[in-house]
Amino acid sequence: MTTKVNCPTCDTKVTWEPASEFRPFCSKRCQLIDLGEWASESNRIAESPLVSSMSESELDQVERLLEQRSQDYLNS
Ligand SMILES: [Zn+2]
Repeated sequence: MTTKVNCPTCDTKVTWEPASEFRPFCSKRCQLIDLGEWASESNRIAESPLVSSMSESELDQVERLLEQRSQDYLNS
């Protein structure tokens, strides 16, 4: 029996297993979108057409940026 959850960002069904690296999100993109919303407390990133056209390396850069911002946020 497998457990499935809905991706909090886009409602796609995600199987809860070690192979689902970004669970409960369906993808890294959805994880970043959710983190971005948390960090900025707005939907600006999710609404940006840039996110959907990002390459993996660009997503990595955004992820680093968001990590930095999260740390700034926690330290302030
Ligand atoms: Zn998703």
